[in-house]
Amino acid sequence: MTAKDAGRIGAARALRPSSKLLPEYTRAHNRSLVLQLLYREGPMSRADIARSTDLTRVTVSDLVAELIEDRFVVEQGLRDESRPGKRATMINIDREGHQMVAVDLSDDDVFRAAVVNLGGEFIETCEIPIDGATGDDALAKALAVVDDARGRATAPLLGVGVGTPGVVDDLGIVRVAVSLGWTDVNLRAAIAERTGLPVTVMNDVNVAVLAEHSFADVDSDDIMLVRIGHGVGAGVIVGGATYRGSRFWDGEIGHVTVGTSGGPMCRCGRSACLEAWVGVPRLAAELERITGEAERSAFLREAGEHLGIALAPIVRTLDLTDIVLSGPPRLLGGDFLAAAHDTLLERTMIGDPDDLSLRMTTLGRDNVLFGAVVLVLTGQLGVS
Ligand SMILES: [Zn+2]
Repeated sequence: MTAKDAGRIGAARALRPSSKLLPEYTRAHNRSLVLQLLYREGPMSRADIARSTDLTRVTVSDLVAELIEDRFVVEQGLRDESRPGKRATMINIDREGHQMVAVDLSDDDVFRAAVVNLGGEFIETCEIPIDGATGDDALAKALAVVDDARGRATAPLLGVGVGTPGVVDDLGIVRVAVSLGWTDVNLRAAIAERTGLPVTVMNDVNVAVLAEHSFADVDSDDIMLVRIGHGVGAGVIVGGATYRGSRFWDGEIGHVTVGTSGGPMCRCGRSACLEAWVGVPRLAAELERITGEAERSAFLREAGEHLGIALAPIVRTLDLTDIVLSGPPRLLGGDFLAAAHDTLLERTMIGDPDDLSLRMTTLGRDNVLFGAVVLVLTGQLGVS
């Protein structure tokens, strides 16, 4: 659950002192509790669920019956055990009961979407070339990829989660997305109107960091994902909660000046922006130009060092432990990553490399799609 969701629930609580509405809210909360537990722990008996949630066995039985009827959980055979006596029936997430549409609009060339089951498995993926479309044409293509995915679903759809480039507010309005030529595009409303489904829209990098938190094999609640492509952006989870600024410009670190003695020119017209140091166009062009292996290595190390210089104060201020890079592994995975890690350790005075992990994402280019799944699970089931 994000900080924002938590805030909303807190506000709803404060506004609803009447006991009349409370049971309904409690029921939704308890449903989320059971689902969250099954997502985290895997199959459990009703008695296990009662023990772990502190709910009574009667309440758990009622909730499970309701969740089975709604096709969110399923009975899954008997517990495999040698103890004598009656063996318990195991309850698990009903993977096939519902599906979700995950959408990634962050790629330079294609809009992508996936139909995903409740187990997080991709059932179908599809993509539509952007062909340089901007404005209304880009919106039409975004709606088309959603339609394509919806048409492939084989179970009732729970909702649509979308990761899009740009500055996105908490209503799902894209305030600005330069690459798509969007200003104040109500992407959430457009998709909701088209599909009749609940829709959640968030900035692509904020979506990608959710994926790292929920799907990747890390045990950290203090994560920053840095996405390096044409531009550079960051998404942060602090203390297990997504961090969002109230103006929604959080993570826009691409045009922060790095260093005090100049640097490469940036497309914004200034020099020494982080994007100018480490953006993919520069790295790719320079590596093309530089011939010797040692020189290429030195170039990548210098670029990685500038990433480390830019990130160090952020890492220390927010007490982050897990930094994840998303971008072409061929450019970022070797010397660049190593130099950025060395610089971070040195500049933060974190002595033990084990206390600060810097790595490439293990989710590859699907990280935004995985994060879009988290948006739907959180928004519709209260699971994160
Ligand atoms: Zn710049």
